[in-house]
Amino acid sequence: MERIDYLIIGNSAAGINAAEAIRKHDVRGKVLILTEESSINYSKPLITYYLSDSIPLEKVYYRDQDIYRSNSFDLKGNTKIVGLDTDKKAAVAASGEKFYFHKALIAAGGRPIVPQIKIAGRPKKTAVNGSLANMFTLCTLEDARRIKEYIYAHRVKRAIILGGGLIGLKASEALLKLGLSIDLVELSDRILSATFDQEASSIIENKIRQQDSQIYTKNTINKLFAEGNLVKKVQLADTTVLDCRLLIVAVGVRPNTSWLEGSPVKLGKGIQVNEQMETTVPGIFAAGDIVEALDMLNGEKRNIAIWPLAALQGKTAGLNMAGQISNYEGGFFMNSVEILGVSSISMGLTGLGPGPEVEVLSQFKPDQDYYRKIIIRKDRVAGAIMVGKIDRAGIYAGLIKNSIDISKVKENIIREDFGLIQLPADYQKHLVTGEGIEV
Ligand SMILES: Cc1cc2nc3c(=O)[nH]c(=O)nc-3n(C[C@H](O)[C@H](O)[C@H](O)COP(=O)(O)OP(=O)(O)OC[C@H]3O[C@@H](n4cnc5c(N)ncnc54)[C@H](O)[C@@H]3O)c2cc1C
Repeated sequence: MERIDYLIIGNSAAGINAAEAIRKHDVRGKVLILTEESSINYSKPLITYYLSDSIPLEKVYYRDQDIYRSNSFDLKGNTKIVGLDTDKKAAVAASGEKFYFHKALIAAGGRPIVPQIKIAGRPKKTAVNGSLANMFTLCTLEDARRIKEYIYAHRVKRAIILGGGLIGLKASEALLKLGLSIDLVELSDRILSATFDQEASSIIENKIRQQDSQIYTKNTINKLFAEGNLVKKVQLADTTVLDCRLLIVAVGVRPNTSWLEGSPVKLGKGIQVNEQMETTVPGIFAAGDIVEALDMLNGEKRNIAIWPLAALQGKTAGLNMAGQISNYEGGFFMNSVEILGVSSISMGLTGLGPGPEVEVLSQFKPDQDYYRKIIIRKDRVAGAIMVGKIDRAGIYAGLIKNSIDISKVKENIIREDFGLIQLPADYQKHLVTGEGIEV
């Protein structure tokens, strides 16, 4: 029985960054990367751009597909891990094959949530992923490929999207770009409600409505009407009935941990890890969308499912697996969406309201599709929302990350042209001589 030095479950942001970090410090150790998908790596944030024909397939790839050969990584695709034997240090595949390891990284990401929607006339059935030919989730490159194929093959001109969060909006962005109209159904009172406020959401919502599209807030899909394996109509909670040619379910993603339940790898809002990204089982690490890790802005452990944090956590895990000492210092939430030419970004603690230690500065110009809100806590930027003009978002991200005292430049911070020149002098110097940030 061969024991692999480093077994990596997941071939995406966290897994690949871990493998690369390991190889920098251990040139000989055997690295095996497993993925349940086919054997290519790609950038998930780009799959909706592939869906909208904005970029070709080659541009969706994350790393050159030659990285496996050039780094002597073994890669095994179509291999779904369904269990972990922590005593024997083995990962068990659906096929029954076992992979014995010295150290392992769990980087298996998230899984889309699919609500159990009833199908009219089929009392024992609910719509589960894959059972209806025109109902999709959008989480993998294969999902994007299948949706695109379906749209072209059936000349779909209008689609229903359930969920107005990040993935629902990315799906909207793609379909609107392809020229489709959409019906967007959202449970909350506005789209992107987790990170946007009323003003920011209203600009994006108005933009969506311009393309013969509708938004149904405080609503959900209660029932589907199907013929054969096709959804023909949906009924909303408020009893509205919509014709359905294509349905994308985007109500959220949860850490892909169900296969770990009952194992000694402790779970919370994801796999629990320490600062070195090691789980509660020594020698088994975890990183990316599957973990709960430190939110540096509120000190809480939570699941922040974004690409840059998955990559950073993967790198941190890889360094520690290879015997280096590296601590993950935490991160914060950030997302960016562009709808019909209007860009938007939100970052940090956007929900903080004005209070004894919190100041909120904002500028709202709805006629120009422009909004900017900066949340300042104890003279430090804690969050920002930008709609319409986001080219200097990197500056705000840097101020948040580095917890810079902005009391001396506070009067400028909301300005549309706020940039490097208005920053505190010592921080400017840090940017020029230090690691720098995007400006
Ligand atoms: C449509 C969409 C748009 C997004 N846009 C953005 C964005 O604009 N900006 C941003 O920062 N983030 C975005 N995200 C989130 C971002 O893609 C994720 O945070 C990131 O991909 C997480 O990386 P990961 O390595 O943890 O997991 P994932 O990228 O989810 O990869 C998981 C890997 O594990 C493999 N795997 C899963 N289960 C098993 C198993 N049981 N056995 C073997 N292998 C398994 C998968 O095949 C895959 O290789 C988006 C996500 C989606 C779905």
